[in-house]
Amino acid sequence: MDIKFCPVCGSRVTFKIPKGDNRERYCCNKCNEIIYQNPKIVAGCIAHVEKKILLCKRAIEPRKNFWTIPAGFLENGESIESGAIRETLEEANLKVKELKLFQIYSIPRINQIYIIFLKEIKKDDSFSAGDETYDVGLFSFDEIPWNQLAFQTVSKSLKNFINDYPKNTNVYNDVLE
Ligand code: ZN
Repeated sequence: MDIKFCPVCGSRVTFKIPKGDNRERYCCNKCNEIIYQNPKIVAGCIAHVEKKILLCKRAIEPRKNFWTIPAGFLENGESIESGAIRETLEEANLKVKELKLFQIYSIPRINQIYIIFLKEIKKDDSFSAGDETYDVGLFSFDEIPWNQLAFQTVSKSLKNFINDYPKNTNVYNDVLE
């Protein structure tokens, strides 16, 4: 992301290598604040039961009207797992806990890391569309709308999940272009 002004004092910044560093960063011309930029982390959950996967139809951009698993950016002060739990509650009104790590994607092009967990939906669990979701439903493996999935991370992780089903003991660590 291009930065023009220092977040501390509001002065102009210059993109340069700070003293003692080895790569360019935005540096404040006045207070010398260095603005470090690092990848953002997305936490998500494949919630499933009896060869069906819970998908949400997105009610917000980007990829509005496309289907996705519950997932979103981690907040400060949150563990990765609790981020996935929160997103699953916010987007699908589904309460989950004790998730199993399943898939890590590094996407250097957009500076994002995706970490996706698994959770089996229990018999008494309920779910419904949250505020950022138009619709939510369980899709059997052959009903998944592959052409209408929101993100490459979603389609790839669902394929891995289906390939390994029902064992799902592999943990994947992939880099996406
Ligand atoms: Zn400054």
